[in-house]
Amino acid sequence: MKTYDVAIAGGGVVGCAVAWYLAHFSLDVLLLEKREDVCCGVSKANTGILHSRSYVTPGTLKGELHLRSLSWFSQAFQELGLKPLRCGALTLAFSKEEAQHLKVLQEQGKIEGASILSPKEVLALEPRLNPKVYAGYFDPETMVISPFAVTIALAECAALNGVTMHFEKEVVFVEASWDHLLIHCASGERYAAKFFVNCAGIGAPQLAQNIGDVIPPLCFFRGQYFVLDRECQGFVSHVLYPVPTEESKGILVSPTPEGNILLGPNFEPVSYENTATTIQGLEEVEKGARKLVPEIPLDKVIATFSGVRPALPKRDFYVAFSLRLPSVLHLAGIESPGLTACFGIAEYVGELLGKRGLPLREKKNFQSRVPPLVFRECSLEERERLIAEDPDWGKIVCRCEEVTLAEVKRALRSSPPARTLDGLKRRTRVFAGRCQGGFCGMHLPGILERECGLSSSDIRKSGPGSFYVLRKGEVAPDAKVC
Ligand SMILES: Cc1cc2nc3c(=O)[nH]c(=O)nc-3n(C[C@H](O)[C@H](O)[C@H](O)COP(=O)(O)OP(=O)(O)OC[C@H]3O[C@@H](n4cnc5c(N)ncnc54)[C@H](O)[C@@H]3O)c2cc1C
Repeated sequence: MKTYDVAIAGGGVVGCAVAWYLAHFSLDVLLLEKREDVCCGVSKANTGILHSRSYVTPGTLKGELHLRSLSWFSQAFQELGLKPLRCGALTLAFSKEEAQHLKVLQEQGKIEGASILSPKEVLALEPRLNPKVYAGYFDPETMVISPFAVTIALAECAALNGVTMHFEKEVVFVEASWDHLLIHCASGERYAAKFFVNCAGIGAPQLAQNIGDVIPPLCFFRGQYFVLDRECQGFVSHVLYPVPTEESKGILVSPTPEGNILLGPNFEPVSYENTATTIQGLEEVEKGARKLVPEIPLDKVIATFSGVRPALPKRDFYVAFSLRLPSVLHLAGIESPGLTACFGIAEYVGELLGKRGLPLREKKNFQSRVPPLVFRECSLEERERLIAEDPDWGKIVCRCEEVTLAEVKRALRSSPPARTLDGLKRRTRVFAGRCQGGFCGMHLPGILERECGLSSSDIRKSGPGSFYVLRKGEVAPDAKVC
């Protein structure tokens, strides 16, 4: 059995960032993910904000790794081929008391170009804001990015630089065996590695417990969202925050790089990883969003979703070596700003493993990822050239987002490849437009059949049991029969 230098459990943004960071060194790295693809856990449902220094939580590990991550941004975006939307943010106060907090944000960030604005100045920047606004804090460093794009780019860049990835491999136990660790998966496979990093997100405490370690149990806080159609692009042009509370950064109105607008998230305790959306939750989101932008066009909602924050009682990140196995490192409680902090977390993990003896010799031949071409963003001349080279660029599979067959094929052949309809959605934006799959949902199963050799009854929307095509009389295994 091959012995890897490092094995990672979990293909969320954190596990993929650790894999990408370690891929800079001459190491054999393995990533094991329980689900069929990367980005199937918490990382798939968040606001996608790259929070600036003003939002660093002082005196915490979370804050320290957030700060570290900010200094990685330019190198990471270049290596990963990512283009965040550099829209800046306005934090809005609606009373004198709330305005005190704006000074705290300004003082904490010490960001060049940041300033506290009068109502007139704020309204000049965002004319659709609530005219009752008392003051605003303008922060030019806040950015937004697609959380799928970050996680997938990290995974693709890691794979390009030699990281091995196996999917549908849930790590259930790790034990010491001579000079290495034996990693046991629920499916029966075993892998050997010198170091093991537990980045299993919501699954991290259970995995730690199986190994004999104790991580305090997680608390779950759900956040629900509305997604507005791309037709609303430009309705607001900054991330709009209310004044944050102890619990969260509040219900935001935020543009996305793709042109949609996100409203949310609220903050509600749930007893488990319950990602349902509810009328009460969405009403709370509507109220919060209307406080900032009263005329927000809710008739343009194309989707709702929710994500669950996996928090520890102290509301800080947990990164610590196992007390049972000294070469096992556990990460837990990676709630917001885990997306922003992922590069800093990865560097910190690398440093900790280095101190325990992992040899960190930088590779000379590290390769940056070439991002896939996005047809919708190409000029007419580029489109004509592409279609002349390969007619698949001229076949539109998703009308709303103008996704072509060539882009879908690229996603199916990439490493790691999309294997489900949600995997395709996260890579290409099929299913993400106004019709939410009404058009492309008819064509994609056939493409998956042809390209991946799947039979129509094997095609899944996402995880186990989510079959997309059922024959007459068939019922999906976990569907309720009414
Ligand atoms: C509502 C909400 C809004 C947020 N907004 C922001 C934001 O705007 N900006 C920001 O910076 N952060 C934000 N965050 C935080 C961010 O989304 C998380 O910190 C981050 O996604 C956590 O990533 P992860 O890799 O730790 O977890 P996950 O993405 O959950 O990854 C863990 C992975 O491990 C896998 N797994 C589980 N058990 C096992 C096992 N035993 N073996 C193998 N694999 C396993 C899971 O399938 C999963 O893929 C938000 C979070 C929420 C919920």
